[in-house]
Amino acid sequence: MSGITLKPGREKSLLRRHPWIFSGAIESVTAPPEPGATIPVYSHKGQVLALAAWSPASQIRARVWSFAASTRIDADFFQQRLRTAIALRNNLLAQPQGACRLVNAEADGVPGLIVDRYAGFLICQFLSAGSDYWRDAIVAALQALVPCRGIYERSDADIRQKEGLEPLIATLAGEAPPALLEIREADLRYLVDVQHGHKTGFYLDQRDNRLQLAPLCHEAEVLNGFAYSGGFGLRALQAGARSLVNVDSSEQALALLDQNVELNQLDAGRVTNLHEDMFTTLRRFHEEKRKFDVIVLDPPKFVDSKAHLERACRGYKDINRLAMLNLRPGGCLLTFSCSGLLATDLFQKVVADAAVDAGRNGLILRQLQQASDHPVALSFPEGRYLKGLLVKMVD
Ligand code: SAH
Repeated sequence: MSGITLKPGREKSLLRRHPWIFSGAIESVTAPPEPGATIPVYSHKGQVLALAAWSPASQIRARVWSFAASTRIDADFFQQRLRTAIALRNNLLAQPQGACRLVNAEADGVPGLIVDRYAGFLICQFLSAGSDYWRDAIVAALQALVPCRGIYERSDADIRQKEGLEPLIATLAGEAPPALLEIREADLRYLVDVQHGHKTGFYLDQRDNRLQLAPLCHEAEVLNGFAYSGGFGLRALQAGARSLVNVDSSEQALALLDQNVELNQLDAGRVTNLHEDMFTTLRRFHEEKRKFDVIVLDPPKFVDSKAHLERACRGYKDINRLAMLNLRPGGCLLTFSCSGLLATDLFQKVVADAAVDAGRNGLILRQLQQASDHPVALSFPEGRYLKGLLVKMVD
């Protein structure tokens, strides 16, 4: 019989329903199954604590499917988990051209599995050995649960390497998605490149935060840093921004942004796109004494290991300091970090340090986080990766 036995005292996190078993917590493994297959996890005293997916290549050596020893981990199990996850998003699913996250990995009890829905297509990422192992059952369950034109896989995220998995991109069921899919977010339309875009094509996690931008933008001069395909930028334009400068290091992203401006019949004459590094742009604007009323900072993840946390904090501080220097008194900064390893409190401290260095004072008007279709399980706080602050500069 296969099984993982933990070291004495290392059952604590599992008793709190945390789903990860790190290699350092394991005393012994008997008859390990093939990667991704199910293995029971025992305490040092021989009590069954969980049924988990075995992932020999990863430091996260197993991820829990169930804390009940009697659960059968089979196709029905996945259908049930996915049904529950999808029911949570019924309000978002009701909009035919809507886009939302249907399955958010650990938070929905399916570690490593992401499923996003864009209009009539489902885009999946199998990011753990366990979710990869159950791919066929998961695809069959999705077909049964969500009417769609096609299911497409974008398992090309780097973290698959840590699980010993190759990158994979493929049509899993139905039609292949078109080069650009049109979705609707509130009253705006966006073209999404689900085949080549970042993540599964769009930053769905920022949906609610984009709405926070609108009331700030009437007649405003707006600088949209790390603009991607215009998620925040279009919202600013529609809310009446006098001018909008989008900055991104990806030319393709800015080209798609232009198409999105046109699709919504927004005034392209107010838009300037800068294909450059945002740090450089902010420094240049500072030298030129160019000021803005609103600045959005939504950078990519600066930190993917604890060893780099300090360096990442310096990066966040620098970019926030530069942005604050470029804001008029009374102007607003909408600033984010999507680094899961950077805690919310620490992010706030970094932004506060940036204000000190910039010689400015600000008020936090709102604390922001990922949209509710990216929920966070109480037992898995690591799932809260996106944090943001809406700061008004008072002087
Ligand atoms: N705010 C966007 C998502 C931003 S994702 C939305 O709501 O859709 C981060 C973006 O930053 C990516 O488009 C990436 O191309 C860009 N990027 C990464 N490093 C950059 C840098 N140093 N300067 C400018 N853009 C950068």
